[in-house]
Amino acid sequence: MSANTPIRVLLVEDEAGDAQLVKIDLRQTRGEHFTVTWVESLGEIQPCLQASDFDVLLLDLSLPDSEGLATICKARLLVGETPIVVLTGRGDTDFSLKALEAGAADYVVKGNFGYDGLARAIRYALFRAEMEARNNLLVAALEAAANAIVITDKSAIIKWANSAFTRLTGYSSEEAIGHNPKSLINSELQDKSFYRDLWTTILQGKNWRGELINKRKNGNLYYEELSIAPVKDKTGEITHFVGIKEDISERKRLEEQLQKLANTDPLTELYNRRVFLECVAQEIARLARFESLSAALLMIDLDYFKRVNDTYGHSTGDKVLQQFAQIIRQASRTIDLPARLGGEEFAILLPGATQIDAMAMAERLRQQVAETFIPHEKGAVRITISIGAAALSADDRDGDAVLSHADTALYEAKDAGRNLCRWFNANPHKNQSITNK
Ligand code: GH3
Ligand code: MG
Ligand code: MG
Repeated sequence: MSANTPIRVLLVEDEAGDAQLVKIDLRQTRGEHFTVTWVESLGEIQPCLQASDFDVLLLDLSLPDSEGLATICKARLLVGETPIVVLTGRGDTDFSLKALEAGAADYVVKGNFGYDGLARAIRYALFRAEMEARNNLLVAALEAAANAIVITDKSAIIKWANSAFTRLTGYSSEEAIGHNPKSLINSELQDKSFYRDLWTTILQGKNWRGELINKRKNGNLYYEELSIAPVKDKTGEITHFVGIKEDISERKRLEEQLQKLANTDPLTELYNRRVFLECVAQEIARLARFESLSAALLMIDLDYFKRVNDTYGHSTGDKVLQQFAQIIRQASRTIDLPARLGGEEFAILLPGATQIDAMAMAERLRQQVAETFIPHEKGAVRITISIGAAALSADDRDGDAVLSHADTALYEAKDAGRNLCRWFNANPHKNQSITNK
């Protein structure tokens, strides 16, 4: 309230002498201008409010139509948010506290206002009302926020939480207040160093931001993006932390889906060519570091697959590819990496495998596929595969180099009649390929 604007006082006082004293006191106040409208009973408040707005209600509690503390409650119903300052004839603290509890902003003892006492009580009441209105507005804004907001003290005890916090975690603010978030929503999926880093940052007065997995009241886990801002007092001492939480489970799910789409083949759900080549390159790097290691890969092509499509239709062809993918998935060890390179061409990376291991695996696979029947209304579909195998070596430039070796061996297997496995030998003159059939 600016110093030039008069403070509009509605005075409810049935004693003319007391009313006069109030008017005189306020008129004499320096630096502030009050306009006083005087009425003698509660019943006259309503008509006054219809005629004008008031900034403050000065209320005597002994009125012709109301007596005692009940007067405050009745007046409150009439004046809404307007602050009420009680004029009391009694000086006892107990009564005064009851007046505050009943909704009065302040009280002054009649005939004993003291220097500036009445004006000061009015000023404080107005100031508090303004602060309260501002506070209510901020709380409304925090409540309206889509993100969960939680305020803790310096030792992480929750002091306040908004309704988005309840929607996110399942805990009402009553359940949350007084507890450490750790005891409510910790999933124990983050390690100690994660929290150490968090605490080090915020205790230094810096903001912290990160992603974590937390647990809802119903036990379900969710991904949360959390930012924590320390709140400091005037001396720079941290007093509170404000945490803002966003449920990012859906975003994480989409990211994982996207990751899967980027890394796997949708038909067979095997890794795609790019991932396979990356893994082969990593394996080559490992061989360069540890000379004693060995590794191989198999390149597999379905024989005469075009005929399967032509005879049974493309969708049966797709089912055959899925079934074959299942066979190589099951035949692989945990450390092996089966992949679909494209079309009806597959590969398996075999870390640690020697030529003998790789050819044994290739032969097992070849036999298993040859013995597999895929039921179809036109009769069981049978397929065979040809396999070219090659060793990885530290000298290989990249995954493509190894694949081209395996492809050479595969070509030989096809050329020799299909349903065969061939090992790539770098020296064709000495190439007495191991043939397993
Ligand atoms: P080869 O023994 O020489 O490998 O003969 P092939 O018929 O298997 O080889 P070719 O390369 O001539 O034909 C491959 C066929 O694979 C042609 C193509 O339509 C089919 N194919 C590739 N990708 C898919 C797919 O995703 N689904 C289906 N159903 N067929 C596919
Ligand atoms: Mg083929
Ligand atoms: Mg082919």
